[in-house]
Amino acid sequence: MKEINKELAQQIVDFGQKMFRAGLVTGTGGNISLRIPGENAFLISPSGMPYEEITADDIVMLDMEGNQIGGKRRPSVEKNMHRMILKARPEFNAVIHTHSTYATAYASLRKPLPVFLDIMACVFGGPVKCAEYARIGSEELAVNAEKAMRGTNVAFLANHGCIGAGRNLEEAYGNVELLEICCKSYFAACCAGVPVLLEEEDIRLTREEVARKYGQKGED
Ligand SMILES: [Zn+2]
Repeated sequence: MKEINKELAQQIVDFGQKMFRAGLVTGTGGNISLRIPGENAFLISPSGMPYEEITADDIVMLDMEGNQIGGKRRPSVEKNMHRMILKARPEFNAVIHTHSTYATAYASLRKPLPVFLDIMACVFGGPVKCAEYARIGSEELAVNAEKAMRGTNVAFLANHGCIGAGRNLEEAYGNVELLEICCKSYFAACCAGVPVLLEEEDIRLTREEVARKYGQKGED
């Protein structure tokens, strides 16, 4: 078994506590993974352990074929979902899966969330798709989740929850947190009336402009 980088493992511990305290998961639900720079491997949270109890020593290391190469615990049952996304999407280094209330409620509808807020065009680049239903921990769920994430950074998991990825854990966390807020707003909007959706052209232009101008880098 390989030695696990404590600093990277601690990041998973910290984000696990953060998402637990924020109410994005309860009990031992959800899971987190982080690619190990320069190695064909990643770290993942352990299976069925309360977030308040997990320490860096409980984090598990897997290679890209799914073999456990570090850590003494059993990895999250959703290890294949994380592995497939990290394998297919080299631009992402972190993946977070949660059961947050509104996103999970929406996931039971098994339909995409349309772009009804411009922040969705900025951050997700378009509508959020729902991965086809497959049972918890199955290889099929991993395949379906990776497919639903194509072209974007978040997806719903039918009748289960949601998943998000990012260049680092901050970004992956921000994406699943934003998806929860968008779902909450969508339910509120639907209660108040019929939300007007953004035009395709505006979604495309917003996405392009954000890629060019947003943040502290790039042109003014
Ligand atoms: Zn789950």
